[in-house]
Amino acid sequence: MPDAEIIAIGSELLTADKVDTNSLYLTDQLNALGVEVRRKLVVGDDRALVSEAVHQALAGAEIVIITGGLGPTEDDVTRDAVADALGRKLEFREELLGWLTERFKRFNRPMAENNKRQAYAVQGAEALPNPRGTAPGQWIETMVESNGRVVMLLPGPPRELKGMFAEECLPRLTRRLPPQVIRTRFYRVAGMGESDLDQLISPVYKPFTNPVTTILAGPGDIQIHLRARGATHEEADGLLQQIAPEIERLLGDRIYSRDGSSLEAVIGERLRALRATLCVAESCTGGWLGERITSIPGCSDYFLGGFLVYNDRMKTELLGVDAGLLKIHTAVSEAVACAMAECARAKTGATFAVSITGEAGPESFTGAPVGTVVIGLAGAGLVPQAKTYSLFGDRNGIRTRAAQWALDDLRRWLDSSAL
Ligand code: AMP
Ligand code: MG
Repeated sequence: MPDAEIIAIGSELLTADKVDTNSLYLTDQLNALGVEVRRKLVVGDDRALVSEAVHQALAGAEIVIITGGLGPTEDDVTRDAVADALGRKLEFREELLGWLTERFKRFNRPMAENNKRQAYAVQGAEALPNPRGTAPGQWIETMVESNGRVVMLLPGPPRELKGMFAEECLPRLTRRLPPQVIRTRFYRVAGMGESDLDQLISPVYKPFTNPVTTILAGPGDIQIHLRARGATHEEADGLLQQIAPEIERLLGDRIYSRDGSSLEAVIGERLRALRATLCVAESCTGGWLGERITSIPGCSDYFLGGFLVYNDRMKTELLGVDAGLLKIHTAVSEAVACAMAECARAKTGATFAVSITGEAGPESFTGAPVGTVVIGLAGAGLVPQAKTYSLFGDRNGIRTRAAQWALDDLRRWLDSSAL
């Protein structure tokens, strides 16, 4: 399967104000065809630099897509630069001029002399119509060494680019590419850091370029994508089988979703299936746990509510935690986390309760090191339990992870308790 390179042209894309989004769209489209993007570049409006970039891209990739710089003005150098790189001439196309004249007439606008620049195409190029703008695209087939390369010149404005790619380039590319099937696996993992995860599974996926493995990490939440391409379903599945079972075995129950669902959605489904209800008691997260649970539509089926008990007095007066317990163990302790969960359950009548108490920093109030977070769990007929974690990050990082860890502890608890 061929590889692609993308070159985004425009000096504005090298400023702090404008970002190249075209290549993201194109990468997504190419990946869906099974084509990998091996490199992308952003180049200013400089004929020599663009020409050099195209020359280099052609040496490495079978598909080269160039966006931008097809306008009518002097700084639109893409046509000339690509002709230079290919050692071809630009030729005037009568039919392009006709199309441009027609378009200006239709919009009742006079056509400027320099718009005629847009009627030039690289020798041998197939012009691609642009119903959304004035810059026609170009599809160029070339021979470099013995491999046929294809070069696409597409307009810069994202709307024009997307339309032209979908209508003109996709059908041509699909005809050109060998028939193939893409099969994917998608895992979401909680409760471990990115480097730990990578250390664990990289020996499995590193030796393989097909499937392609990509890892996307957020605080305490990692997404793993496997994408295999083959000539048939069987072949692509076979390629996935080389690594997927081993990755699943290594990660075990740290995988919480295989369909992209969020942790709070997975928990919701589990609670609904159990016909169970849930409540929360939060200290250092200040409501973030409840916020995540309530982000799921229909959560009123299982979520009753919660307690936001930040200081010790609220923990005793509102929630009913024994003042003596707080005095002996401090608020950041497993005894208090268990009591918070038990009290929340007693007050609400929920089947399950989760509590969070911890030191989010920058200062510690109980003497426990900043980052110490205790998660408590209580459930009808179950012995309450609590776990102490040392979480990493600034104040918000610790709080984000605390809510994530609490949801994950609850998930494992729901899965492990024989209910
Ligand atoms: P051009 O085709 O170079 O005349 O670009 C026209 C307009 O399209 C520019 O002013 C940008 O606003 C936009 N544009 C060009 N290239 C990109 C890109 N790679 N990503 C997003 N927008 C772009
Ligand atoms: Mg430009």
